[in-house]
Amino acid sequence: MQTVLQTRAEATGYAETSTFADVTSFCDVLAREYPFVKRASLCRSTEGRDVPLLIVSKPGFTSGSQAHASGDHLVVYIQANIHAGEVEGKEAILMLVRDLLKSDPARILDATTLVIAPIYNADGNEKFGDGLVNRPHQDGPARVGERHNGMNLDLNRDCIKAESPEMRGVLREVYGAWDPDVVFDLHTTNGTRHRFDLTYGPATHPDTDPAVLRYQRDVLLPTVRKQLRKTHKWELFDYGNAERRSGELIWATFGYEGRYVTNYAGLRNRIGILSEAVSFLPFRFRVETTYQFVLATLNKLVDDRKDIRKRIVAADAYRAAEAGIAFEMAARGKEKVDLEDVPPGTRIDHTKAPTKWKSVVLPTYDRWAMTAAAKVPSHYAVPKSSTDAIRLLRFHGIELTELRKTPTGFEQFLIKNTKVSQPFQGHPLRTVEGTWEPRVTTTDDYWIVSTNQPLRMLIFHLLDPLTTDGFVTWNVFDREITSSKTYPVLRKL
Ligand SMILES: [Zn+2]
Repeated sequence: MQTVLQTRAEATGYAETSTFADVTSFCDVLAREYPFVKRASLCRSTEGRDVPLLIVSKPGFTSGSQAHASGDHLVVYIQANIHAGEVEGKEAILMLVRDLLKSDPARILDATTLVIAPIYNADGNEKFGDGLVNRPHQDGPARVGERHNGMNLDLNRDCIKAESPEMRGVLREVYGAWDPDVVFDLHTTNGTRHRFDLTYGPATHPDTDPAVLRYQRDVLLPTVRKQLRKTHKWELFDYGNAERRSGELIWATFGYEGRYVTNYAGLRNRIGILSEAVSFLPFRFRVETTYQFVLATLNKLVDDRKDIRKRIVAADAYRAAEAGIAFEMAARGKEKVDLEDVPPGTRIDHTKAPTKWKSVVLPTYDRWAMTAAAKVPSHYAVPKSSTDAIRLLRFHGIELTELRKTPTGFEQFLIKNTKVSQPFQGHPLRTVEGTWEPRVTTTDDYWIVSTNQPLRMLIFHLLDPLTTDGFVTWNVFDREITSSKTYPVLRKL
């Protein structure tokens, strides 16, 4: 007789969350039971853990190109536990895969290959401590891991600079090997005390391909919202917080930058889905909402898979002439939001749900708009001596061509001014000001980066000196910028 495979959360009545050993043995059991389930490796973490990547491909695909060659099959990457105090995604995704393997009425496993990192931040997970310290304002479990990874980095700020073994693992084993159409990133928010059961977000970078962005923001997520209202009587809403802006209370989304997991997917023309369970709702309920949210979203993705593949293939072939270098938050309109209603000065138990509410109608800032653009060049030239940049471009999967002399027909960027911020994630974030001029004074050997490739938008945002979340920002070119008046990367329009 088979014993029932349970997560630690289930086995303890939601008093505890899974350890690293629990997750790996759960994955191993599934891989033993089902021939088309593989337990692969995402990376070796800073502290030496073999971070599991679970591959569930019922048709037996072993790569993204194989899956995509078969027609409308989707590859879906699901990442949980990036912030290891936010543990419901880890539990929910193990349960969901187990359940789908047993019974899959919507035939999700026929239509999708699931690539799953159930415990992305394994090192953070194992730093179990008091839940109220490691993740304030959360209603259980009593002990959870820490937000940061083994390098003390926030992995949800690491997508551009890719310093962590975890992000490098994603670039190699997920984007490189599987080219996912959809990327889920599962979190829990402990922000504004609202009445929603779960909040979500699409990729918010405005340089996400427009057809791919419209699908996730205007079709997919609103459908899932309606569906869960109907089936579970839950209210879902866009992830965000109530904030004051010029004196007015607004509902504000998070940053547009590519450093965030879901926005990074957007810059690669893919669907990014942020899930944020609500910290002051009980742990068991947070697992349930996350589970049902992912399931409902998978169902809708399967329904729309032909359309999704069409949009993605078109996005990879599209060559936008311009890209953004400045952005501002924008509202889709005004909508009703229920906020906690307590007199100022009232003592609140932040680990428990509010009991009194007031409805307010708030401008709903769910997106970003471009306020300044620049031309996307046909080529960049990166000096061979800029080895960190070259290495990073390769990590991101960008194609380079070698050139053994100074390229002709290129422009160089003359730096008039440069500034750094207070350190963030160990980096004094840099900005530069200046102008392109049609003259090249350097004599380096170069690698040429054509923007005539699917990752055109990502290339622009990594390499252009004026972008707000690229290699300049994260100090990749600091040595060159502080020793020369010209930016090391050349461009050809
Ligand atoms: Zn988080």
